[in-house]
Amino acid sequence: MRLANRVSALTPSTTLAITAKAKELRAQGHDVIGLGAGEPDFNTPEHILEAASKAMHEGHTKYTPSGGLIALKEAIIAKFKNDQGLTYDSSEIIVCSGAKHALYTLFQVILNEGDEVIIPTPYWVSYPEQVKLAGGKPVHIDGLEDNEFKITPKQLENAITPQTKAIIINSPSNPTGMIYSKQELNELGEICLKHNILIISDEIYEKLIYGAAKHVSIAEISSELKEQTIIINGVSKSHSMTGWRIGYAAGNKEIIKGMTNLASHSTSNPTSVAQFAAIAAYNGSQDTVEEMRKAFEERLTIIFEKLTQITGVACLKPEGAFYLFPNVKKAAELTGFSNVDEFAAALLEKEKVAIVPGSGFGSPDNVRLSYATSLDQLEKAVERIQKFVNENQ
Ligand code: PLP
Repeated sequence: MRLANRVSALTPSTTLAITAKAKELRAQGHDVIGLGAGEPDFNTPEHILEAASKAMHEGHTKYTPSGGLIALKEAIIAKFKNDQGLTYDSSEIIVCSGAKHALYTLFQVILNEGDEVIIPTPYWVSYPEQVKLAGGKPVHIDGLEDNEFKITPKQLENAITPQTKAIIINSPSNPTGMIYSKQELNELGEICLKHNILIISDEIYEKLIYGAAKHVSIAEISSELKEQTIIINGVSKSHSMTGWRIGYAAGNKEIIKGMTNLASHSTSNPTSVAQFAAIAAYNGSQDTVEEMRKAFEERLTIIFEKLTQITGVACLKPEGAFYLFPNVKKAAELTGFSNVDEFAAALLEKEKVAIVPGSGFGSPDNVRLSYATSLDQLEKAVERIQKFVNENQ
């Protein structure tokens, strides 16, 4: 069967490819440690499960409005008010089947053939593919390791063309864990305002912040920037609800209306019961969110120290999310590999540690390690990486 050109041109997710290989080795009886996970390893908090069960038994198992239940939109509006001091109307919010689906729908709604979207590197794997699927053109700017993987205002100015429609800012970042400060966001935002570029602010890791770092949404800097920004967020990472598929977009009414129309012809609505779970996530106690954050921070502190002691591994300390993104180019060279992809493949084959090569994120000298797994597994994994580097030099 000949597939449509737009699908033939898709790059499969590197994260999923590694996970599949790790699964295959595990099925063969190998003791594989998977550090590829993009989801918290905690169960969804009990009060959220109870709310979903109650909703189900009360008969909330039917279609909902395409843009999401009003009660959920109200919970999201209250969250924006409490966390960022931002005021939104329900016509400025759409609930989708996960943040990924909110982004997909957004690109379908804003892009015409050939419109450019600026995507800083390293980037989350789905951004360029989603832009291409909507007929857009991804334009990458290198977030250099020397600048904590962040882009500068000058780089942004240089990348803008008459075709530039939007820029994606993902802070805290997947895969780097880096966070843009208020001043950095303001400088980038000024340029976007000057050139009338839509800012897509993916804040899905907003609740996972460590040390003295602070999350600032670009939309809270000024009313002009709020007008120019679509915020993407969801409950997947904050409340350990990846499988429930609830995310949302907030911003310009016309864009949200377009997204809602599109959703009405694609998904109809996000799963009803999952929406009730998300209401409980936002309206209920946030203690479990903080407990999970603390557990991630404890792991990060311990594992960062051990990882950076390995010869040939250099790593910036992440300020958020649950990933480490070390540069392992030297370690790969020392162990006789011509590139990091081969190093990562051999590590999985020989030491049974699954990490994701940075090439999939546009950063071929790095690898992504997720610490969304137990400390015990993490410590074992780092020991194995150390052994692999030491034995193969
Ligand atoms: N944005 C980023 C940067 C992510 O890492 C992810 C998930 O991995 C998402 C969006 C999608 O989240 P969701 O599970 O809500 O679709």
